[in-house]
Amino acid sequence: MSKMPIIFVFSDKKDRLPEIIAGALALGEDVCAFVVGTDEDAQYAASLGAGVVYTFAPQQDVMLEDYAPSFSALVAGCGKKAMVLLPPSKRGRALAARMGVQLGAAVANEVTKVEIADSVTVGRMVFGGLASGSEKITSPVCVLTLSSGSFEPAAPDASRKAELKQGAFVPPAIMPKVVGQTPKQGSSVDLCKAKKVLCVGRGFAKKEDLALAENLATVIGAELGCSRPVAEGEGWMERERYIGVSGVMLKADVYFAVGVSGQIQHMVGANGSKVIIAVSKDKNAPIFNFVDYGIVGDLYKVLPGLTSLLK
Ligand SMILES: Cc1cc2nc3c(=O)[nH]c(=O)nc-3n(C[C@H](O)[C@H](O)[C@H](O)COP(=O)(O)OP(=O)(O)OC[C@H]3O[C@@H](n4cnc5c(N)ncnc54)[C@H](O)[C@@H]3O)c2cc1C
Repeated sequence: MSKMPIIFVFSDKKDRLPEIIAGALALGEDVCAFVVGTDEDAQYAASLGAGVVYTFAPQQDVMLEDYAPSFSALVAGCGKKAMVLLPPSKRGRALAARMGVQLGAAVANEVTKVEIADSVTVGRMVFGGLASGSEKITSPVCVLTLSSGSFEPAAPDASRKAELKQGAFVPPAIMPKVVGQTPKQGSSVDLCKAKKVLCVGRGFAKKEDLALAENLATVIGAELGCSRPVAEGEGWMERERYIGVSGVMLKADVYFAVGVSGQIQHMVGANGSKVIIAVSKDKNAPIFNFVDYGIVGDLYKVLPGLTSLLK
């Protein structure tokens, strides 16, 4: 067996589906997509290469992870060795955990590599990115959340046709009661796709000073990213912008770090960039072990200087 007989895919985020379907096409003989949405969403999954698409009509007040029994019923019913591929989002992980229990299947999260021989072997980072681990899966069905950047996203092709089926909703044994919903403050940024990223770290003394980075980012046409403490500790930027093992994995042409020390948990997410540039006032900062170009200096002097030079 060099390919899995069937791979089921689902993504709660539309922009992750091309990569997950690409992974499924590379690893599986048949690809079956689950969609909670409209016929248009089903056509999109088909255009990416899914051979069969099950569409589930969105249920009032039902969270996506509560579709786990519906998806598991179809996976169990296929009667073959199977794999389920999901994104490593919060909902993807919640679905993976539930489907793992329902299917008696092994679950592996944030997988970066999958090899299929007599059994499935997955690779993923462990100890917060300090090492990479390899795990052999022995259950006939496995559920994986796929780290971003593991496969080149599939390109949509409207001429591709899939067998379109209606999925039947199977309610979970214990149905949570939704008592209210508040829309999340949206972020339109997708750093995974950005070609140039200017990343700010804790070297900035206060939120207002980020304007220095914004000015330079505008001049060089870069998206702003940050280290985890800037997003999670200080709350100066949205969580979608932090880079690293527990955040975004970059595939940028240029990653420009300012006031970032370069701890491994951060660099794991930045290392995929082609050119790495850093400004830090500490000449011994670990970031300088990773850079193509390094500037030892105070960002409060270097950034305005660079901005006016590059204008
Ligand atoms: C399990 C685990 C997972 C983690 N996941 C992530 C992750 O996904 N992403 C992530 O980013 N972190 C993650 N972390 C945290 C990580 O270990 C670091 O703590 C974090 O990346 C440090 O952020 P920083 O570089 O912005 O801050 P610091 O480490 O505080 O570095 C600030 C740098 O700025 C320099 N500096 C200060 N003032 C100036 C100035 N005026 N001019 C120029 N330079 C200056 C300092 O010398 C220093 O080098 C994780 C940690 C753990 C334990």
